[in-house]
Amino acid sequence: IKITNLEKVYRTDEVETIALNKLSMEIKKGEFVAVMGPSGCGKSTLLNILGLLDDPDAGSFIFNGQEIAGFNERQRADVRKRNIGFVFQSFNLIDELTVFENVELPLIYTGVKAAERKQKVEEVLEKVQIMHRRNHYPQQLSGGQQQRVAVARAVVNNPKLILADEPTGNLDSSNGNEVMELLTNLNEQGTTIVMVTHSEHDARYSHRIIRMLDGQTVTENILV
Ligand code: ADP
Ligand code: ADP
Repeated sequence: IKITNLEKVYRTDEVETIALNKLSMEIKKGEFVAVMGPSGCGKSTLLNILGLLDDPDAGSFIFNGQEIAGFNERQRADVRKRNIGFVFQSFNLIDELTVFENVELPLIYTGVKAAERKQKVEEVLEKVQIMHRRNHYPQQLSGGQQQRVAVARAVVNNPKLILADEPTGNLDSSNGNEVMELLTNLNEQGTTIVMVTHSEHDARYSHRIIRMLDGQTVTENILV
């Protein structure tokens, strides 16, 4: 990931908010980076752009060797589906679908055939140790189990990049540590991870902390 002079401005009626102010940073393949900073400094805006959910107003965003800034929604969705997995603070599982079906969704979106889907879903459910709950619904699981399902869904497509937004924010410390161990394992297998967190404890699982303030990086070189 190479971001140069990235700008994002939100405009509502009278007010203009500069969320990203000529932000620049570089994240190498295989890194595990924590992004920290006070509320409102632009962390979510940055993750949305890195996740190709939103488009910057100006600047350059090179992902996987390709200039993404200026891509339309369809082009972004195409790159997103095949390369990026998301883990959110609130899990964001679909309550009406079982564990298996939730994790299967990204494979359906990318057109994987049923037999291969079953194999891949089972493999990843084993990895996060939730196979025994495959036919349960999210509400029947503890918070830690739900987040493990969410991590399984994020990685089932073998993404190059995982974006995690406060992944332990709704978990107690023991479940939180389990999720951090899981992310660490995925990183050791080669997946790049960018994690927004308020937790200094969680940040220590990363290689590097990027600190942000007012839409800019304060420092991107605090080695952990
Ligand atoms: P963080 O995730 O670090 O809390 P955000 O990226 O959510 O920060 O927000 C950065 C700034 O942009 C804040 O001042 C916030 O109020 C503003 N902002 C975020 N989203 C919107 C939006 N949809 N409309 C208007 N302002 C927004
Ligand atoms: P935690 O203390 O980690 O939040 P819970 O007390 O929520 O855990 O859950 C303990 C165990 O009970 C978990 O294995 C979970 O899957 C199971 N469980 C919790 N709620 C339900 C439910 N409504 N139906 C079936 N199993 C449940």
